[in-house]
Amino acid sequence: MIDNSLMKNKAFINGQWVDSSTNKNFAVFNPADGALMSNVPDMNKEDTRLAIDAADNAFQSWSSFTSLKRDTILRAWADGIDANLDGLAYILTSEQGKPLSEAKSEITAAAATIRWCAMQGQRLYGDFIDGHKAGTKIVISRHPIGIVGAITPWNFPVSMITRKVAPALAAGCTVVLKPSEETPLCALALAHLAQKAGMPDGVLNVITTANAQEVGAVLTGDTRVKKISFTGSTATGKILMAQSAQNVQKISLELGGNAPFIVFPSANIDAAIDGAMASKFRNAGQTCICANRIFVHQDIFNQYLELFVHKVRGLKVGSGLNSDASIGPLINVKAIEKVENMIKEAVEKGAIVHCGGKKHSLSGTYFEPSVLTNVDEGCAMYNQEIFGPVACLYPFDDEQDVVLKANNTPYGLAGYIYSQDLSQVWRVSDGLDYGMVGVNEPFLATDLAPFGGVKESGIGNEGGEYGLLEYTKIKYRVFGV
Ligand code: ADP
Repeated sequence: MIDNSLMKNKAFINGQWVDSSTNKNFAVFNPADGALMSNVPDMNKEDTRLAIDAADNAFQSWSSFTSLKRDTILRAWADGIDANLDGLAYILTSEQGKPLSEAKSEITAAAATIRWCAMQGQRLYGDFIDGHKAGTKIVISRHPIGIVGAITPWNFPVSMITRKVAPALAAGCTVVLKPSEETPLCALALAHLAQKAGMPDGVLNVITTANAQEVGAVLTGDTRVKKISFTGSTATGKILMAQSAQNVQKISLELGGNAPFIVFPSANIDAAIDGAMASKFRNAGQTCICANRIFVHQDIFNQYLELFVHKVRGLKVGSGLNSDASIGPLINVKAIEKVENMIKEAVEKGAIVHCGGKKHSLSGTYFEPSVLTNVDEGCAMYNQEIFGPVACLYPFDDEQDVVLKANNTPYGLAGYIYSQDLSQVWRVSDGLDYGMVGVNEPFLATDLAPFGGVKESGIGNEGGEYGLLEYTKIKYRVFGV
């Protein structure tokens, strides 16, 4: 039974469900059929300042709660999320498109993240050191950094929020959240459940807007906001980083990737195929850690290609609400056009399409799962995130050469290696200039480990203790004698 109260169509400031000060709204559509799902407030800079006021007022008390008291409220929130799994999954799939099973996994992982952070919030220990002069003592303590401005994308509209909000709240910070304009309904549903769990007013505020630039400028321009946490494109991350420099805000950025997925001759081929399928086609290829360049050793290339194409042909495209669909629609028409243009360019430069390669016969934003080879290395699809259900396979013959190729990109988020040769695994995983490496394993995201990239893929980490510490600041005191 789905609780209708999960579907909110107001923004959330200081514990109140509010319209924008201009009374303007914007529409949220279901990508599966283009149907209007809801209209939500189009908040502007004044509304954003009100949200910061609320977060500022709430910070005093929330940050001085015991960590156990925060833990209790956060756990109640996680329990509420679990209890509303079906309703949340329905909203997620309807506004974002991914299959219900994937939506449920995302939501369950989000609740686990909240619990993990709530617990670890009780272990934000400091340190005690004998000082630099005889008799002096040094005490190091951690404190919540302050108000956090969180800006999140549409591809994981629940877990990208909890990855930021859970550690921030557990550390004692308060938050102004700006979800993607494509998927505000998940954010509002999460806020509703937080309120039901007893989250005090102003601790979590949600600003819905179609004008991200204006809201982003206020969050980065207000001296009361001490940290910006952003997940999205590298282009937007660079803008926010420049803006946040004016007040020297602490910033975390989870940006784009161009993941290499390298299959060596010793690999277990079945595992390497299943791994690439999971990595490439989850969320219809719309993840920043998706295998973007699948490098397969030439000794096994033809065998791998044949098996892989067979699997891809078996993928079922359809509405995420349809239980046997494994690939839902892409998020919008722009996403379809991007993938179409990438394929067009690749084919013009000699690429071979083994399956798919075009829009699906279902109308709207469905795209056929596709496999290409012979893609020129100058093509956009070799150098940029594809963000669609299109896999490109490249043969290689030399270990050092493939590592060089893998690293020859401005990005450094996730890389994958499939090999049974232990020495090779160490050598290659050392050589990959990436923040995360999956060895014979396609799933990287977990609340236990620090998700994050290097180079133009970002700054900082989300997950595990590392993720929690991003929301703290350090104070050191020295005591003389
Ligand atoms: P994508 O192309 O994946 O949508 P974006 O970087 O455009 O990636 O969007 C990620 C998030 O950043 C969304 O919430 C979006 O509204 C927001 N965003 C986009 N541009 C800006 C900006 N100039 N300032 C602040 N937020 C922005």
